[in-house]
Amino acid sequence: MRKFTDDTLLVATHNAGKLEEIGTLLAPYGVQVIGAAERGLSEPEETETTFVGNARIKAHAAAQATGLPALSDDSGIVIDALGGAPGVHTADWAITETGRDFVMAMTRAYDMLVASKQPQPWTARFCCTLVLAWPDGHDEVFEGTAEGWIVWPMRGTQGHGYDPIFQPLGHDVTFGEIDRWAKNRISHRADAFHKLVKGCFG
Ligand code: IMP
Repeated sequence: MRKFTDDTLLVATHNAGKLEEIGTLLAPYGVQVIGAAERGLSEPEETETTFVGNARIKAHAAAQATGLPALSDDSGIVIDALGGAPGVHTADWAITETGRDFVMAMTRAYDMLVASKQPQPWTARFCCTLVLAWPDGHDEVFEGTAEGWIVWPMRGTQGHGYDPIFQPLGHDVTFGEIDRWAKNRISHRADAFHKLVKGCFG
């Protein structure tokens, strides 16, 4: 596995929160992070049908455009009784004409589960794929998951996205009910970052 030996990492995201979170995580390794927006990069279209495919598009586009190693992530929720939906379309399900509406997206998932007539528990997992790409075209891929099931009604006001309907395995609270420190220990993103740090920054 290729190690990261530079001092600056381009994070292929326009999300300031994500950039800060990744910067904090990699600070102990002497890595400085810069965001895609700072470099004036546009967001490439995510045209693939898998998390890794879309993460690769973002990381390689950023590495090619800047000449720096670039890290991207792609994440979402996979619901077994819905054949894996929303999967790579997780963010799209929340799009409205006036912005993002995750209550609408969660209601859609619930309505489809009821219509599917599949028995409960409705198993699901959050997935996070990280791709670290170098300007020479090499990349390393890390995949993290958090297993659990879909519950209804929504519970909890912490977190974001689909957190209020996801109850992680071994817990009786949803991701929307546990504080973010607790979530960060068991989340799909934590799992993927742990593997990234062990593989490329250790
Ligand atoms: P991306 O940022 O384009 O990869 O989109 C990820 C989608 O998955 C967004 O709609 C997020 O709300 C959702 N998602 C990813 N991780 C989580 C999580 O930890 N909790 C809730 N929703 C998540």
